[in-house]
Amino acid sequence: MNTPLDFSYETQPARVVFRPGAAVSATPGEVARLGLHRVLVICGSRGEATARAVADALGDACAGLHTEARMHVPVEVADRAVEVARAVGADGCVAVGGGSAIGLGKAIALRTGLPLIAVPSTYSGSEMTPVWGLTEHGAKRTGRDPAVQPRSVVYDPELTLSLPVPLTVTSGINALAHAVEALYAPDVSPLVSLMAEEGVRAMTGALPLLAVAPDDLEARGRALYGAWLCGACLGATTMGLHHKLCHVLGGTFGLPHAETHTVVLPYALAYNAPAAPQAITALSRALGTDNVPRALRDLAGSLGAPRSLAELGLKEADLAVAAAEAAGQAYPNPREVTANGVLGLLTAAYEGWEPRVDS
Ligand code: NAD
Repeated sequence: MNTPLDFSYETQPARVVFRPGAAVSATPGEVARLGLHRVLVICGSRGEATARAVADALGDACAGLHTEARMHVPVEVADRAVEVARAVGADGCVAVGGGSAIGLGKAIALRTGLPLIAVPSTYSGSEMTPVWGLTEHGAKRTGRDPAVQPRSVVYDPELTLSLPVPLTVTSGINALAHAVEALYAPDVSPLVSLMAEEGVRAMTGALPLLAVAPDDLEARGRALYGAWLCGACLGATTMGLHHKLCHVLGGTFGLPHAETHTVVLPYALAYNAPAAPQAITALSRALGTDNVPRALRDLAGSLGAPRSLAELGLKEADLAVAAAEAAGQAYPNPREVTANGVLGLLTAAYEGWEPRVDS
C-alpha cells in the first residue's frame, strides 16, 4: 500500500565543498566568502598537524590555533575555548577534525554566535547538523540551535587517509545509523529518503575496500560522500530508539561512541523492522539483501568491528538499568518502546547474538 505524500523539508543553509586537498586549498576561500578576517582554528591534540596546515594556508586570516578539543565537549573545555576566541578577537572559527573538534566549534558558536566552518576528518556527520552537546558533572546535554550549524563544510578525503581501519569501520557504521533512523523518522521526506539510501549504498560499498586498502583515495571519497549524506539525514530528522540507546550507553556507562553505534545498530533495526517496512525496503535495495539487520552485523563483524556490548565493557547488571533509562524517555520511534522490549534488544547486543526480527 502506498502512503500519500505528506511532509515538510527544510534546506539546511550549509555550503559544501568536496575534493581531495580541499582542507588547504578551499578553506581560505570559504573564510573569505563569509567575510571573515580573524578565525580561530580548533582541533584535538591528535589532529594538530592537519589543523596547523589549514592555519598556515589561512595566513593573516588565522587569529590562532586552539588544540584542546576533547571527546564529548566537557564544559570547562568549552569555557576555555570561548575565552581564547574572545581574547584573540576571533570573528569566526574553523574546526578541523572529528565530531569532538566540530563539537567544540559548535560550543563556541552557541555561546558567542561566531560563524563556524567545519573541516571533518571522520564520518561522524556532526558538521551537517544544528545539534550541539556539552558534558557537565558526567552528564551530556544536547540541543538544537541553528547558530551552531556550520555555515560551510569542507570535505577533503585526503584528511581521512590516516583514519585507522577500526575507526574507519565504526565511524562509517555510526554514519549508517543516522541514515537508518532517518528512514523511519516522523519527519522523513522524499529527499531525505533518497539521501539516506544513497548514503548507505556509498558507505557500505566503500568500507570493505577501505578495510583492505585504507589508502584507497577513491574509496575514501565514496565513504566521505556517504558520511555527508548520512550526516544531512541526521540534521534533517529526529532520531529514535537507536540514538537514544547509544546516548544512554555512552553517557551513563561511558561506552565509546562509534563502537557502541556499531554494535547496537543491527539490534535496534531488528527491533524496529516490523514497524518500519518502507525503511527496510530502502535499506534492502541499498545493501542488496533481504535481511538487513543480519547484513549490517555481518558487515561490521567481517571488517573486524566489536560484536557485543560485553566486548565494549558493559556489565550484565547494567542492562536492566540502561533499558529502563532508554524506555523512560520520550522520543519518536516507529515501534512502541517498552522496558522489556529494550531489555531483550540490549541482551542480544550484549551477548552478540544474531539479531532476530519479530514477525
Ligand atoms: P572524535 O572526534 O573524538 O575522533 C575519534 C578519535 O579519532 C580521536 O582520537 C581523534 O583524534 C582521532 N581522529 C579523528 N580524525 C582522524 C584522522 N583523520 N586520522 C586519525 N585519527 C583521527 O570522534 P568522532 O567519532 O568523530 O565524533 C564523536 C563525537 O562527536 C561524540 O562526542 C559525539 O557525541 C559527537 N557527534 C555529534 C553529532 C552532532 O550532530 N552533534 C553527530 C555525530 C557525533
